Amino acid sequence: MHEMRKVNDNGHLTIGNLDTVYLAEKYGTPLFVYDVERIRKNARLFVDTFKKLKVKAQVAYASKAFSSIAMLQVARQEALSLDVVSEGELYTALQAAFPVEKIHMHGNNKSRKELEMAVQYNIGCIVVDNFYEIELLHDILVHQQKEMEVLLRVTPGIEAHTHDYILTGNEDSKFGFDLANGQAAKAFQKLQGFDRIHVKGLHCHIGSQIFETDGFIMAVRRLFQSLANWKQTYGFEAEVLNLGGGFGIQYTAEDEPLALDQYVKALVEEINSQVNTYEMNFPEIWIEPGRAIVGNAGITLYSVGSQKQIPNVRDYIAVDGGMTDNIRPALYQAKYDAVVANKATQPTTNEASVAGKCCESGDMLIWDISLPEVEAGDILAVFSTGAYGYSMSNHYNRFPKAAVVFVENGVDTLVIKRETYQDMIKNDLSYE
Ligand SMILES: *Cc1c(COP(=O)(O)O)cnc(C)c1O
Repeated sequence: MHEMRKVNDNGHLTIGNLDTVYLAEKYGTPLFVYDVERIRKNARLFVDTFKKLKVKAQVAYASKAFSSIAMLQVARQEALSLDVVSEGELYTALQAAFPVEKIHMHGNNKSRKELEMAVQYNIGCIVVDNFYEIELLHDILVHQQKEMEVLLRVTPGIEAHTHDYILTGNEDSKFGFDLANGQAAKAFQKLQGFDRIHVKGLHCHIGSQIFETDGFIMAVRRLFQSLANWKQTYGFEAEVLNLGGGFGIQYTAEDEPLALDQYVKALVEEINSQVNTYEMNFPEIWIEPGRAIVGNAGITLYSVGSQKQIPNVRDYIAVDGGMTDNIRPALYQAKYDAVVANKATQPTTNEASVAGKCCESGDMLIWDISLPEVEAGDILAVFSTGAYGYSMSNHYNRFPKAAVVFVENGVDTLVIKRETYQDMIKNDLSYE
């Protein structure tokens, strides 16, 4: 059973103590609903664990998971830092009055314009990804007469997948400088020649939806092997070590994620041991959770429409959204759990698959789930859609983007309006 499954006296699913059927009626469907208390709890578990361990840290919310003004205001209230990967995400952060010194910029192909904006607004750190970017950034800093702190994004040769990790010598990745083949050291050397760029440390991100600490521990060891060399060769010690994001969450009952503080404890313990081995100073630790902050805090509410029963094959239940608001099942066979929100206590006697309404056979949200008898007008609630749902939503078939509601302290607040058809055609120009 999904951890977010809570039911009221009417037998309706609730979120943040509010009736989801009421929310669906009030705002229409498809609708994203976030339990803001849950977002805060997730954020605090990371932040407070570092505090308890007395480790200087930044917990940077990876805003690509879900970026909106309201969300970034909550991140700011929780004293998180922020990762942005584009001008658009940076613009949103500025609109949310996010403190610029706590914003970090990522990207494997940052444009001149993006870097110019980052420098102009004095963001805290740029995670430098490639040699082209070094030249570009230097040139911009000279033009604007500024300086910038950077981390070097490195690929430590560890690829973590949900339940295992793969060690590779030379990593085949579009991101970052390879540690094993010496690219990272070369980048570091090159940066020594640019006095406006200050290397604060290293960054790596080994994957997503990770359920074990082993991959992170391996990554820390690899980073320290290189740092030990760099200390000897260049007299360099990292002030900051950024271990990225990727902390796993529960999508379905099969997923058994670690409590978020477990990752922090494992990281701190391993870094402590490495620091002692190599006689180095303990660096500031940065992490970049996206999914683990917002993923399980969000659900999507849909209205059920048509059904198709294929005898001896399967039953399809179609809802009023699909790959336009949740592309993850189509993109990487992501699995989700759902309940019929208005029949949350009824026995789940029916095997069915949940289809979207896009003109695409791959537009399926859930294959083979047990639900009660379903009829048109029922509200289907899909769990754990808070990350990479709205942020990946698109206009395929010209469906307007869904609305987003925050609930907290028993109050529901619309934080992103449902798109209108006028919104949809606002950039279209006539050709006659
Ligand atoms: C995507 C990404 C994250 C966030 O990943 P989650 O799995 O959502 O925690 C953090 N850092 C970097 C560099 C990323 O690309």
